[in-house]
Amino acid sequence: MIRWRDIIIYAKYSNPEPPRRVEKTEEEWQEALTPQQYRILRGKGTESPYRNAYCRSYEVGKYVCVGCGSFLFDSGTKYHAISGWPSFTQPAAKNALRYLFDDSYKMQRVEVQCNVCSSHLGHVFPDGPEPCGLRYCINSESIRLMPE
Ligand SMILES: [Zn+2]
Repeated sequence: MIRWRDIIIYAKYSNPEPPRRVEKTEEEWQEALTPQQYRILRGKGTESPYRNAYCRSYEVGKYVCVGCGSFLFDSGTKYHAISGWPSFTQPAAKNALRYLFDDSYKMQRVEVQCNVCSSHLGHVFPDGPEPCGLRYCINSESIRLMPE
């Protein structure tokens, strides 16, 4: 299980080695994604709270990256955070995500990206439920549910 101190160490020193790498040019990303997905995944955008696909969805399955199809979160770690965005307590694997300090908007946050294609997913906060205390706050546009 990943804890907040692991995330700070990843963001400060180095992220876990990804299982593979997917790289595309800006033109290829624009072709592969919808304008809204491109704005969020490649431009570090944020979708509207509540009015998004997975905020209130508790279907069973695997959430994969819209950018590259990598398995990012299991529905078993999804919980209701009342934040307006789909929230998870743990990633699918230690090396599924990468973490970067984000000081934009005068806030000190930790950005979460797909470790394979470096697409922006959302942020992680240390105010989640026990035992790990993590809240991965993720844009629905960045993920796709593959139902079981
Ligand atoms: Zn990806």
